Amino acid sequence: MPKNADIYDTVILGSGPAGLTAAIYAARSNCCPLLIHGQQPGGQLTTTTSIDNFPGFPEGIDGPELMQAMEDQARRFCTNFIEGEVTRVELQGSPFKIWMDDDCYQCRTLIIATGASPRMLGLDNEWDLYGRGVSVCATCDGFFYKEKEIVVVGGGDTAMEEASFLTRFAKKVTVVHRRDTLRASPPLEKRARENPKISFRWDTVVSAIHGDKTRGVHGVNLKNISSGKEEEFPCDGVFIAIGHTPNTSLFEGQLDMDTEGYLLTKNHTETKIAGVFAAGDVQDPHFRQAITAAGWGCMAALQAERYLEDLKD
Ligand code: NAP
Repeated sequence: MPKNADIYDTVILGSGPAGLTAAIYAARSNCCPLLIHGQQPGGQLTTTTSIDNFPGFPEGIDGPELMQAMEDQARRFCTNFIEGEVTRVELQGSPFKIWMDDDCYQCRTLIIATGASPRMLGLDNEWDLYGRGVSVCATCDGFFYKEKEIVVVGGGDTAMEEASFLTRFAKKVTVVHRRDTLRASPPLEKRARENPKISFRWDTVVSAIHGDKTRGVHGVNLKNISSGKEEEFPCDGVFIAIGHTPNTSLFEGQLDMDTEGYLLTKNHTETKIAGVFAAGDVQDPHFRQAITAAGWGCMAALQAERYLEDLKD
């Protein structure tokens, strides 16, 4: 049976910009929400370098700094934070139940802002070599690659940002992209292309990673997908920046999702279960910006508040 007898008006899952903005709005409407976050509070932005396009910061702001400010703001009202892994949710019938192993938290409205996780290449040994030359976070691991040679995989904004950041440490960065044009936005592409330490391998994929747990990564195989030609390419690190997968496995069988696992919403942030809302990268495959995630979080909190008002009526 549930250990926690309280029924929260609102529980928020996730502490990225969507979750924290939802918390700020919910807390200010006096509902003292509970926000449950995992081991990486602040979400993906805590692994980002300077964010130049979040309104209000003309000189840019570091991702972790922005997330800390949002958290402080949510705490200033009455958000309760707890850390832990949600192991199960029961969304049939109210109150909804959120389980963390044997602990259960109950709520009248739930805002899902669990975000998305970095996609991996799917190569046999990439998890064995994770943290030993394979990384998804230049800000976290770049420091360990002083004067090293690095491969960055991907052609989007993240890949360009990671590649540029890594040149602070690395001797050489090679961006490996599966097409011959980048998906990245023009300013980030320009910055990467103008960096003398960055070179590009077009129409190319990483087909194998060479290394072992003791020595780490010492090379990759690069395969040109036009010619089929494959070659060994020495390097000390592989930074994977090929997009993200929404964190929705908890809700399988209970909420509707698209083929990629993004939660389906209607009327802005409503899921198919009344009282359950979804916000940010977990339901938005299109924009995936800090500012849009924050906007979704705001909408979810306002819709949850209206739903709670209707319940009282
Ligand atoms: P993304 O835009 O989805 O780009 C992913 C890249 O990885 C694409 O170039 C894609 O190739 C490639 N890719 C995907 N699967 C692959 C695979 N299996 N093997 C090899 N390559 C693969 O993801 P993102 O760069 O993480 O950006 C996500 C969102 O965050 C975007 O909206 C972006 O604008 C935003 N963002 C903004 C900033 C900023 O403004 N400072 C920084 C980072 C991210 P294709 O191009 O061929 O599809």
